[in-house]
Amino acid sequence: MATMRCIVVREHGGFDRLRLEERPVPEPGPGEVRLRMQAVGLNHLDTWVRRGVPGHTFPLPLITSSDGCGTIDALGAGVTSLREGDPMVVLPGRSCGACEPCQTGLDQLCRHYHLLGESGDGTAAEFVCLPVANVAPKPRALSAAEAGSICLVFQTAWNMLVRRAELRAGETVLVHAGLSGVGSAAVQIAALLGAQVIATAGGAAKCERVRALGAHHVIDHTRQDVVAEVRARTGKQGVPVVFEHTGAATWEASLKVLQRGGRLVTCGATTGGNVSLSLHAVFFKSLSILGSTMGSKGDLRGILRLFEQGKLRPVLDRTLPMAEVATAHRLLEERQALGKLVLVP
Ligand SMILES: [Zn+2]
Repeated sequence: MATMRCIVVREHGGFDRLRLEERPVPEPGPGEVRLRMQAVGLNHLDTWVRRGVPGHTFPLPLITSSDGCGTIDALGAGVTSLREGDPMVVLPGRSCGACEPCQTGLDQLCRHYHLLGESGDGTAAEFVCLPVANVAPKPRALSAAEAGSICLVFQTAWNMLVRRAELRAGETVLVHAGLSGVGSAAVQIAALLGAQVIATAGGAAKCERVRALGAHHVIDHTRQDVVAEVRARTGKQGVPVVFEHTGAATWEASLKVLQRGGRLVTCGATTGGNVSLSLHAVFFKSLSILGSTMGSKGDLRGILRLFEQGKLRPVLDRTLPMAEVATAHRLLEERQALGKLVLVP
């Protein structure tokens, strides 16, 4: 039987828990395609799956990772719309397709929503079988590594800014960590929508790159006070929208810089998820605190079109061989990456 290599987490812990294992090459079921993977994009989520999250149970053992790009090398029964050899990107959320949220186009709210590499096996393998609903043609303008790095973060940032915060042209948004995966997506999407973008980054090199992504003003949080800088840039008014994904380290500043009627939208808590909140501030300032996770596959297909048109750009740091996954996790956790990290199977 033909075998393939894949990255498996069997128990939570340090970098040594990332095991390179051999498995049988999977066969596509009815309605599925098999991709021969060319690129596997990493996200902060990969490090949480490896480390574990207090109070959350992951279905271990798990093949890691949510993003990827590959070519179709086998078709399951009944698949007529795609051909062997087609280059495809992975759409990382699976859902039932038959419930009210799914059929309203809010598949991320499906009770059976299932994120590849988190609540089911993921993309970090030489071959991956997926339903046809979970693949889309690779934007021709992008390399496999670029295309394999974009879906999770751009889908997340799009849902936060467009669907939840309803950011409008001319409004100002504060984006924390503008060179992180989701931050670099948010800076570009907000600029594309016609918003004024204030972003933060740590150090001169990162600040320069965030400016190049379209941020109008970049705050170096290692040497500048974020609240004072935002107030100075907005005539002491603050901003109508804050894009949060860092949590504990930035939460207080995020609330302070919101103007009356402001919207804070959050998708993550990379520095900690337990924060304090003054209800007085929420009601006196008429604030909205908006949670968001992932986004719809329909929106994601629209995002891929924007990449095809060159209106959004991947922010790639480097590619590494799959065997160097531990190095990639270390770069992510130490915030050394200047863009996305991609594994090549
Ligand atoms: Zn559903």
